[in-house]
Amino acid sequence: MFSELSKKLANVFMRVRNRGILTPEMVDNAIRDIRVSMLDADVALQVVREVTNLLREKLSGQEIIKSTSPEQTISKYLNDEIVRLLGDNDSGSGVKNGTLLMCGLQGSGKTTTSAKLANLFSKKYSKRVLLVSLDTTRAAAIEQLRKLALLNGLSFFDDFKETEAPTAIAKKAMKVVSRFDITIFDTAGRMYVNDALMEELIAVKNIIKPRESFLVIDSMMGQDALKSAIAFNDNIELTGLIMTRIDGDNRGGACLSAKSVTNCQIRYMGTGEKIDDIEIFHPERIASRILDNGDIISFVEKLAEQNADAEIKSSKDITMDVLVTHFERIKKIGGIEGFMKYLPGMGKIKDKFMGGTVDEKNIDRQVAIIKSMTKKERNNPKILNASRRRRIAAGSGQQVSDVNRLIKKYEEIKVMMKKIEKMAGNKNPQAALERLLK
Ligand code: GDP
Ligand code: MG
Repeated sequence: MFSELSKKLANVFMRVRNRGILTPEMVDNAIRDIRVSMLDADVALQVVREVTNLLREKLSGQEIIKSTSPEQTISKYLNDEIVRLLGDNDSGSGVKNGTLLMCGLQGSGKTTTSAKLANLFSKKYSKRVLLVSLDTTRAAAIEQLRKLALLNGLSFFDDFKETEAPTAIAKKAMKVVSRFDITIFDTAGRMYVNDALMEELIAVKNIIKPRESFLVIDSMMGQDALKSAIAFNDNIELTGLIMTRIDGDNRGGACLSAKSVTNCQIRYMGTGEKIDDIEIFHPERIASRILDNGDIISFVEKLAEQNADAEIKSSKDITMDVLVTHFERIKKIGGIEGFMKYLPGMGKIKDKFMGGTVDEKNIDRQVAIIKSMTKKERNNPKILNASRRRRIAAGSGQQVSDVNRLIKKYEEIKVMMKKIEKMAGNKNPQAALERLLK
């Protein structure tokens, strides 16, 4: 997620690392690098201009505080800017009761996201949620939502015929909405924004009087998607955006430009095809991920959700055995990539850390190495001499260099875990972390 942008921005900071004072030349260079990084990430030109102009003003206009380094100064102001771009308040949080209209182009993810939201609201916020499909363009579309509801134990409004018009179905559904806290209306999309689509949505909107009107946007479409968003907002008065396919290979431009271009904030994001792959959009936390400061809170929340039966007492006595458990847990919370994105500075050292490619097979190989060690060695890999390392390599079908790399990495992980403990403690999701460390 946003890893390319993240990497490029990390370079901006690398260049000013260990420099004493922020000179006008450094400001120029940093602004230029930030501009290029953002344009490469497909951020809208007007947004890039806005950000770089503001940054230049802040960085050169004021007396730079003596006690902070150039790196800290640039990082702070850039962070502020990115948070502002993403939205200045956490409007993603807080689930409002009432009717909810889902709209968007065909294939943007409306139906999947309707089910994900219903699942999130009912499981995490204990809401009574009803799903209604108004997509009468294809019989399969209604079936799709009905199936998702059935699979996940969600209520689905079934009291209609598929030959009825969307407005007729909406009217019928409105008769039962009082029995639910939230009713989500999934609608038909079109390939392009056109009058027929808007007329249908406006007619539905007048019937259901939505408390929330969300536009679902495929983030892989980049800035193009935002053009249609403006048209939707003009007709429907959106209350929020939902970005899907954040998990894909997207450069982040649509997310960073969305609020400036559409005047509407991202509220949720879809991070995969599964029912749980949805996250509330917290601008601060996303900015943190982009700037690679790590999103410790989300990480700890994820771990807490796993409610892992961890044997880790404290980072001080992490052993190789604990590492194996940890690796297995990492796989559970969405693979090593899923784990890494929450850790500070991981963007930079990720490649080094996982030996080039970050994949699960790599984890399996490392687990094999650890399992070839004796209990004593696993508790204290420092005692491994050259001949034992050779034997372990042979026993696990790996090279000695793989064994050496793993041991080195183990030391690094210990340092990393210490950091996590510290930061998580600072931000005070203590209870969750304690559960992990018990
Ligand atoms: P609709 O036409 O707007 O209702 O789109 P659908 O909900 O039917 O989604 C179209 C496709 O996109 C489906 O195959 C979904 O599984 C997929 N999809 C939706 N959201 C996401 C997401 O956040 N990540 C990924 N990877 N796929 C998604
Ligand atoms: Mg659909």
